[in-house]
Amino acid sequence: MMEADLEDELTCCVCLELYDEPLILPCSHNICKKCASELILHGTGATRRLFQCPKCRGDVKLDPCLGLEGLQGNRVLDNIIKVGAGCLLH
Ligand SMILES: [Zn+2]
Ligand SMILES: [Zn+2]
Repeated sequence: MMEADLEDELTCCVCLELYDEPLILPCSHNICKKCASELILHGTGATRRLFQCPKCRGDVKLDPCLGLEGLQGNRVLDNIIKVGAGCLLH
């Protein structure tokens, strides 16, 4: 059970794969950088600076200048995935 839980923690709920460059959202959920940029691409006008957390539907506002770069990367999670992904998936 522990392993399944851990794998769930490491899996993006948008692409259902292990996080690729995970970003921390203000609601403390995570999303891949590529998935976040797709969510923004689907938006128009103001929604390009705002998207909803896929987990809790909370609004995530992006810095108008920095965009996704304004979100903090989750380096800890990224490292866990890089080190542990091989063991989890095989
Ligand atoms: Zn993803
Ligand atoms: Zn959330």
